[in-house]
Amino acid sequence: MSRSLVLLLPVLRACVWLVLLAVIFVPLERLFALHPQKIFRKAILTDVAYYFLSSLTVGFLLGVPLALVAWLVHRAIPGAFTSAVTAWPAWLRIVAALVVGEIGVYWGHRWSHEIPFLWGFHAIHHSAEHVDFLVSSRSHPVDLVFTRLCGLIPMYVLGLAAPLRGMAGLVPVLVLLLGTVWGFFIHANVGWRFGWLEWIVSTPHFHHWHHTQEDHINRNYASMLPIMDVLFGTSYLPKGHWPRKYGIQGTMPLNVFGQLIHPFLSQAQPRPQAALSSTLPQDHEVGATAHRKGLAL
Ligand SMILES: [Zn+2]
Ligand SMILES: [Zn+2]
Repeated sequence: MSRSLVLLLPVLRACVWLVLLAVIFVPLERLFALHPQKIFRKAILTDVAYYFLSSLTVGFLLGVPLALVAWLVHRAIPGAFTSAVTAWPAWLRIVAALVVGEIGVYWGHRWSHEIPFLWGFHAIHHSAEHVDFLVSSRSHPVDLVFTRLCGLIPMYVLGLAAPLRGMAGLVPVLVLLLGTVWGFFIHANVGWRFGWLEWIVSTPHFHHWHHTQEDHINRNYASMLPIMDVLFGTSYLPKGHWPRKYGIQGTMPLNVFGQLIHPFLSQAQPRPQAALSSTLPQDHEVGATAHRKGLAL
């Protein structure tokens, strides 16, 4: 295979994935649209650019910090412990990795809202005024790497990142891939509800509330397991209604380059905090109820 073809392969792979995603989600978002929306909506090219930027750089960007984490873990965690975990059956390691990875992602995401410096990067994801499957890609590389590392580090520390016996892949790769594919689904502009399943696994309704610009902001941080928000007191899953307005207060450049340098040029501001205490009494806010009962960690 020629050298230029080898270099082009990741681009071709990303193109194929994008076509597949569009074939699945564009018709669904027309047939079951939550909000009326054009296919070629405002900022779609920005999101396509982020899709390629993320797809082509995430492995490279994560490589060095993950190698450092693996080295530190190797030195700090007793070998007997990681060997014991490595001996677990594959399914148990995958489930454990999902859970500890999700705890890491939850807190990484929550810190990205609560710490002004991190919010400067994460605000780009929230600047989308129309939420659909492609918005899943809109992340500043710093935001992307930070949240991914928050999910991966606990897996490395607990010895869940070692190769599976009999499988070429790694548990973190499986979990990352699942999380990435699920990310497109939970951003989709579809008005589907799933009843009790919405408490088990994240859905568009769960994550669209995370993007609201009205009341109840700073909720629903989990990427796949809503139980995390229940445990940590940030869950919001109302029965009937959906958010009407998405985005952030303030301005954000529309083009990718402007957005990429925006966190470095603007003074870090915290996201305006939702008045959690003022919304506690609502019955459907199970997380808040758990918080009141002392279940929040
Ligand atoms: Zn967020
Ligand atoms: Zn999102």
